[in-house]
Amino acid sequence: MSQSDLIVAKFGGTSVADFDAMNRSADVVLADASVRLVVLSASAGITNLLVALAEGKQLEERAYHLDEIRRIQYAIIDRLQQPDVIREEIDRMIENIATLSETSALATSTALTDELVSHGELMSTLLFVEILRERKQAAEWFDVRKVMRTNDRFGRAEPDVAQLKELAASQLQPRLGEALIITQGFIGSESKGRTTTLGRGGSDYTAALLGEALNAKRIDIWTDVPGIYTTDPRIVPAAKRIDEITFEEAAEMATFGAKVLHPATILPAVRSDIPVFVGSSKDPAAGGTMVRENTANPPLFRALALRRRQTLLTLHSLNMLHARGFLAEVFNILARHNISVDLITTSEVSVALTLDTTGSTSTGDSLLTQALLTELSSLCRVEVEENLALVALIGNELSTACGVGKKVFGVMEQFNLRLICYGASIHNLCFLVPGDDAEQVIRTLHNSLFE
Ligand code: ASP
Ligand code: MG
Repeated sequence: MSQSDLIVAKFGGTSVADFDAMNRSADVVLADASVRLVVLSASAGITNLLVALAEGKQLEERAYHLDEIRRIQYAIIDRLQQPDVIREEIDRMIENIATLSETSALATSTALTDELVSHGELMSTLLFVEILRERKQAAEWFDVRKVMRTNDRFGRAEPDVAQLKELAASQLQPRLGEALIITQGFIGSESKGRTTTLGRGGSDYTAALLGEALNAKRIDIWTDVPGIYTTDPRIVPAAKRIDEITFEEAAEMATFGAKVLHPATILPAVRSDIPVFVGSSKDPAAGGTMVRENTANPPLFRALALRRRQTLLTLHSLNMLHARGFLAEVFNILARHNISVDLITTSEVSVALTLDTTGSTSTGDSLLTQALLTELSSLCRVEVEENLALVALIGNELSTACGVGKKVFGVMEQFNLRLICYGASIHNLCFLVPGDDAEQVIRTLHNSLFE
């Protein structure tokens, strides 16, 4: 088969959570002959259990976690027609996990953690191969660490893209014509051969990297939601699925809190111009969202995203009046504390800003340490407001169109808008509102702009 015919399909944890989910995912794989390479996450829940084990647990808790892992994977094995061989293999993995977590209890390390955590994907891929074989499909297990070479930043390793391309061409490409290749997301190996991981949720990234390396025609990300929505359907039941969206819009949405695709994830697909499809393996017939370089007639308003628990810092200083270097000083202090600024507005004698919490599990208030506040206070008067929410309106040509302000803010009368950012990007307009009003704001705006 020619490379340009290839589709790389990735299935997330819920899509390989149990026997039925794995079979539904197998149906999806088998429905399209172009799908020749399958990338899997660990079965849902497994990675969290492994991470907990890597933190060093005492004997009793370790036993509990190991039992849980065994229970989840055995539930799949028990429904196979010929479970014996695969049970042995999984048992060996679980023994490994037990030994590694015993070591972790004595002294843990990031390298050990990655070695331990990688077993989730190693097991799910072994099980999936077995499911396919029982369905009389030629399927082959492939250890992704043979091609996914990374640096040794354990827990957040960066792949060597050039090496991946070479290795994928020599080791993976020739196999694609012979059997369905099943491989692991999330994991890699560094130059000494030790196992690394690409960061939580890294399987999407693996799929995009492999798609790029093999020059795939499409990357399919199968998850538990049928695509990208105009806003979170849990907040607005009338939210609509977006059939087609550009990479730029999707990245903006992810940056502002939409959970479907992480922006860094799709980077390899973006730079190689490979479309990414997002759909639900529970309901493949429902379709999904195609993320691509360009879409026909991109609308002015595309989607609404919400980021909660924002912290606003307002810095007042009379020294700012007609002075130079005040902002430079402020940014210097923030940089020294490893903080990047997210939103910002300024006036003659003050500046208001929020702290960037993208890609971290921290909230604004936890980034705001006493040391940082003390340092800022020596420069200016500092005011801190917590529990705000950032509402981001994603769209196209927003900063060049007329009437945007009226359409958006005309319906916001009853809400306090604490800060507005508009004009820096053609793709977004965002503002802060009190946290308690956030959902009502989203509902009101969605109703007037999208329904
Ligand atoms: N299993 C890993 C995690 O839970 C990677 C992934 O699911 O993408 O973070
Ligand atoms: Mg996952």
